[in-house]
This record gives sequence, C-alpha cells and structure tokens, in this order.
Amino acid sequence: MGEMDLKTFLAYARERDKSLLSLITNFRVDERDGKVVFITEDPRLKKQLLRIVASKLGREVLSSIEVVVEEKESKEKKTSLSEGLNPRYSFVNFVVGEGNRLAYEVAREVAENPGGLYNPLFIYGSVGLGKTHLLQAIGNSCAQKGLKVVYKSATDFSEEMVEAFKGGGIKEFRDKYKNVDVLLLDDVQLLSGKTRTQEELFNIFNHLFLRDRQIVFASDRHPKELRDISDRLVSRFEGGVVVEVSLDEITKLEIVKRKLQELRIEVQERIVQLVMESTGDNVREIEGFVRTIKLKGADAVEKKTQEGSDLEKIKSITASYFRVKAQDLCGNTRSRKLNRIRHIAMYLCRKLTDASLIEIARAFGRRDHSTVIHGIRKIEEERKRDRRLNNLLTFLERQIGDRL
Ligand code: ADP
Ligand code: MG
Repeated sequence: MGEMDLKTFLAYARERDKSLLSLITNFRVDERDGKVVFITEDPRLKKQLLRIVASKLGREVLSSIEVVVEEKESKEKKTSLSEGLNPRYSFVNFVVGEGNRLAYEVAREVAENPGGLYNPLFIYGSVGLGKTHLLQAIGNSCAQKGLKVVYKSATDFSEEMVEAFKGGGIKEFRDKYKNVDVLLLDDVQLLSGKTRTQEELFNIFNHLFLRDRQIVFASDRHPKELRDISDRLVSRFEGGVVVEVSLDEITKLEIVKRKLQELRIEVQERIVQLVMESTGDNVREIEGFVRTIKLKGADAVEKKTQEGSDLEKIKSITASYFRVKAQDLCGNTRSRKLNRIRHIAMYLCRKLTDASLIEIARAFGRRDHSTVIHGIRKIEEERKRDRRLNNLLTFLERQIGDRL
C-alpha cells in the first residue's frame, strides 16, 4: 500500500467511519520496506482492523500493511507525572456504608469529572475513617487518565515551601503547584498558625480554581472548627462541597469482615465479635487488630483481650471499694493513700491473672515495671504480718473472683 492509498484510506476512515480511526492510535510508514504500520493499543482490535482494511482497500493490500500492538503508554509512565500517590488505595477496596456513602459518591464523581461540579471538595471526619483513602483513590483514578496529580499532606506542603524559600526555589514551587490538574491536600487542620503557607496555598488555590482544576482537601474537622486559619482560606474550603465521613456499626461490621478476608482469615462469628468489641470507630485500629490476629492467632489475641479486661475489672473493683476513681490509679498522683490502693490493685492483678509485669505496668499507665515489682512485694510482705490487710485482700479476692 503506497502512501497515496494510505491517504485515501485515512480520508475514507475520517469521513465515514470515525470509529475506525479510534482503533488506531498512530500509524507510520516503515522506511525499510515501505509497509504501512498501523499502531493500536488493543490486541483484540488487530483482526478487526485487518478485516476493515481488506474490505475497503482489497485483500491485496494486506501484504503491504502491518498492524502492531503497542502497549498503552504504561500506567506507570503516566502516573510518574504525578506525585505522592499510593496505588494501594482505590474505590474498589473502599467499603461503603451509611456513614461514608455521601463522601464516597462525591469522591467518585470528582474522579469521574475533575474540576466539575464539586470543586473544591472538602472531606472531614475523625482519624482513621478513610479520608486519605478517598483522596488517594481520586488521585489514582485521575492519574490513570493521564492527569497530573499531586497529593501532599499539609505539613509536607508547608515544609516544601519553607525549603523552597530558603533555597531560592520559590518560583519552581509555585509553578509546580500551579501546573497540576488535581491537587489533593491532606490534613489541612495542620496549617493552623502557618500564615505564610496559608498565603501560598490561597494563591495556588485561586490559580487552579479559576482554571477548573480540581482541588480536594481533607481535615479532621469541619472548616468552621478550624483554628488559626485565615478567614479567606476557610471560605475557600467551604466554597464547594463539604462532606463528612463517619463510621456506623453496620459499616464497621462490613469493614471487619472485609479486612479479615483480605488477610485470608476465616470469617467466624467469634472472631468478628472479638474485633468489633476490641476496637473503636477507627478503621486503622481495626486493620492493626486484624493483623495481630493474623500474626498471633485468634486464640492468643482473645486471651490477651480477656486479660486486658480482667485487669480493668480488678482496677475498678479495687478503686470502687476504696471510693476512688479507677483512672486515678493510672495517674501520677503521688498521694500516699492512692499509692497504697494502686499497690493493692497491682498485687491483685498479679495474683489473679496471668498478665506479665509489663502488661500490668501498662494497665496502670507505667512504662517501667519496676514500680509494679516494688508495689507487689510491699503488699506481699505486709500481708504476712498484718491480719487486717490479709482479711481485706481475701475479701477483695473473693469479690473479684466472682466477676472474672
Ligand atoms: P484518615 O485519613 O481518615 O485518618 P485513612 O484513609 O488513612 O484514614 O484510613 C485508615 C486505614 O483504614 C487505611 O488503611 C484505609 O485504607 C482504611 N480504611 C478507611 N476507611 C475504609 C473503608 N471504608 N473501607 C476500607 N478501608 C478503609
Ligand atoms: Mg489521613
């Protein structure tokens, strides 16, 4: 197929069959043998392309064309335009439920249509509830489309700016951020008090916003609750869509199951319960706990958890007998009376559970277990000599024994 034929063909394709052109990412004429090389990204299209060429230009041209499948510009190459993204986070592995549905849906829409309706997007909620996950999922999705994405925590952004100022690279810094398609800024509550960074961000924001580039912020609180952040920046935060992420029990249950499956732990009712009861409303904590189960086995973790709650019970029974608060036993109050009660509680913990000295120390908010040893010895010694103390301990032991 000569060049002329090629032109005819392409003209035909352009006019009649645009879809055909879309099959070809590029074409070139091979200089050595004059063959026309069509380049396509999808191996499935190769046959289709040859068939169409044959039917339009005759079978004889088939000998003078070649279809080459070239991989799409690899994702890595495209994402290398971007910065700060972690491919681990996606929309697919995000569990959706009541508390995060709105945030999830808005994030999907933003990924689908960056710089569109929801700009800027501001996601807030307490720690470990998936804010970073959603920011990253938006970023990964946009980067795959070839957009230039930058993800930064507000602290890193601030440090980068300070460095840029010191090193005389402030123009590069500004240019870099003014050239992104999608800016994801995490933990903006940490901009509190950083006047200079806020000013830079404000300018970058305006630049991007005017050009319909997408900006997404995450924070541990609502814009209105932010402290020491300039009013004009706060008003930008609020200027688009503000959505909250939270965690309800049903979604938590789903997440627990999913995290167990991800680590290939059998989803048994008792294990699910163990995770549900031992963790708060924090997916990071759930993940950590599930990892421990993977590492040590559910039985061992269950035993530890049981011990942990036994220690808590002993503390609270002892404290309430002496009419003090259980928290005060953990505190550093050095009053003689509290010290004594603390020693008694430590002694009972040691005697009535299998907990190690270190675990007991931790239960009393101590890093070092030497005070525990000291306290326990003291009570042991006294008990031998002091009938009243002995009676008291026997009484407490019975009370605790009934409740463990
Ligand atoms: P935040 O930024 O809100 O503090 P992260 O996004 O870092 O929380 O989430 C903490 C961990 O929990 C991450 O590993 C994240 O993948 C996971 N996670 C949070 N929410 C979900 C969810 N809805 N489904 C699956 N994993 C989640
Ligand atoms: Mg985060």
